[in-house]
Amino acid sequence: MKNIKIILSEKDIPRKWYNIVSDLPFILTPAINPATKKPLEKKDLEPIFPKGLIDQEVSLKKWIDIPNQVIDIYRLWRPTPLRRAKRLEKALKTNCRIYYKDESASPTGSHKTNTAVAQAFYNKKEGVRRLTTETGAGQWGAALSFACNAFSLKCRVYMVRVSFEQKPFRKSLMRIWGSEVFSSPSKLTASGREILRHDPHCRGSLGIAISEAVEEAAKNKDTKYSLGSVLNHVLLHQTVIGMEVKKQLNIVKEKPDFLIGCVGGGSNFAGFTFPFVKESLDKGKIKIIAVEPTACPTLTKGLYKYDFGDTAMLTPLIKMFTLGHRFIPPGIHAGGLRYHGCSSLISALFDKKIIQAVSFHQLEVFKAAVLFAQTEGIVPAPETAHAVKCAIDTAKRNKNKCIVFNFSGHGFLDLASYDKYMNHQLKNYAYPKSEINKALKDLIPIENSLKLS
Ligand SMILES: *Cc1c(COP(=O)(O)O)cnc(C)c1O
Repeated sequence: MKNIKIILSEKDIPRKWYNIVSDLPFILTPAINPATKKPLEKKDLEPIFPKGLIDQEVSLKKWIDIPNQVIDIYRLWRPTPLRRAKRLEKALKTNCRIYYKDESASPTGSHKTNTAVAQAFYNKKEGVRRLTTETGAGQWGAALSFACNAFSLKCRVYMVRVSFEQKPFRKSLMRIWGSEVFSSPSKLTASGREILRHDPHCRGSLGIAISEAVEEAAKNKDTKYSLGSVLNHVLLHQTVIGMEVKKQLNIVKEKPDFLIGCVGGGSNFAGFTFPFVKESLDKGKIKIIAVEPTACPTLTKGLYKYDFGDTAMLTPLIKMFTLGHRFIPPGIHAGGLRYHGCSSLISALFDKKIIQAVSFHQLEVFKAAVLFAQTEGIVPAPETAHAVKCAIDTAKRNKNKCIVFNFSGHGFLDLASYDKYMNHQLKNYAYPKSEINKALKDLIPIENSLKLS
């Protein structure tokens, strides 16, 4: 079998990140300062982010240089392979060509290190001593811990309680790299204590953990906050993925018909697909599909409204597809996809129908993941398995197409979830309609009082 993996050399590591904002045929709605109800200014973000990242957050420049110190660390695992899933194709009896970009090759097993290293670098450069963050399944906490260790920064991680209990080994990883890890909601912050007062058994959510981490960063001078997804600068750092894929597809003379990625906050999907969006807009041939869980169907069932990024309403208001900042998703095993909102860039592309979205239930996703592991040999992370499921369905429904998906991470630390699946202990969660409707009721008054002039 030919061309099973397409491997680039170190000199092919991208030297610049790609900023899609410069290529969009529409103007983005600004983030809003909830206190003034006016468009957010750079200085509003300075208590929690370093200036280097704030500049990237609002940048209109198309290309942004990647610092050499960041590239030096990227070199540990980049460029990542693009693999052709020939054995999966054979099992599906399809004549479609299925490729996947293997971001599980990073030290922590997911794409998240691409931005973690960049964020740690800019914080270090500006004299920050400590970072706080949230983590769902633990992938982001592990990635940031790895990066903080590389740049000698301290790191404190608020880990969503369901994952803290379901996925203990990512905690071990974070501790190996020197981080402190707390179950969220915790008693360390006012937002955590407030949630626990109402619901001592709260399972936690990314929204709650973000509130805790932001609160702590805002209160301490030497501490900043770091977010693993959603924001423009995070998506920007991930574009190394898609730029490498472009080169790799060129080598095998392929043009993608479908690009598929799973979406939590949207960073792996964006990093993988954004470098192709302009071409798709100009020539209109690529179908770009975002995949999410039915239990947390942000794009497919959410509203396109201004909402807070966290539960305690500490973050700026962002125009995005959202299920409401108070929505706590069911405890599905794809912890990284349990987020009530979505990146504003991806939301805008979806609103303009430049990209599409689909959702799947937990059991069909695990079934696809097991078939992938049995044919290709790599166990996908439960998040990644959503993209695998969509790629398989797409291959079944089409003939002779080139399907490329992002393999955002491996599932070696999610084996307890696989055990449950194989023991028939996993269940599907129905689309939580009434919970979502309740959470969405909070949004309307905010939208009406904005001063957008
Ligand atoms: C965190 C994570 C995701 C979801 O986050 P995005 O920002 O939407 O990419 C997907 N896959 C893996 C493996 C993750 O760790």
